Amino acid sequence: MSCVFCRIVAKSQPADILHEDDDLIVFKDINPRAPVHVLLVPKAHLATLNEVDASHLPLLGKLLLTAKQLAAQWGLADKGYRLVMNVGRGGGQVIDHLHLHFLGGWQR
Ligand code: 5GP
Ligand code: ZN
Repeated sequence: MSCVFCRIVAKSQPADILHEDDDLIVFKDINPRAPVHVLLVPKAHLATLNEVDASHLPLLGKLLLTAKQLAAQWGLADKGYRLVMNVGRGGGQVIDHLHLHFLGGWQR
């Protein structure tokens, strides 16, 4: 399997998994750029947001709702956090499997 995130979904590559359900997997970024840096990843392979259409609206909603729920679970809801989705090389995307970065935990 050529896609690294598909391998993590399939459990053929290890990751520090924090949450999993039928649609999503959430694991720690291997190169964290914040005290809390995790990736919310749909299990189905979609390369980028450019491949998304109206049939994916429930999935996109679930990505955001899960981020909100995990923020509350981790005590970050009131402190605040940042959600980032890079799209394409020009947007800084390196892994061509759609994902949402969750960054937070700074002391400020
Ligand atoms: P992008 O730049 O594509 O939006 O972000 C990809 C992210 O995936 C990067 O922050 C990078 O550190 C992370 N990453 C790349 N390979 C792996 C891996 O094998 N395991 C984990 N846990 N994260 C990875
Ligand atoms: Zn993939």
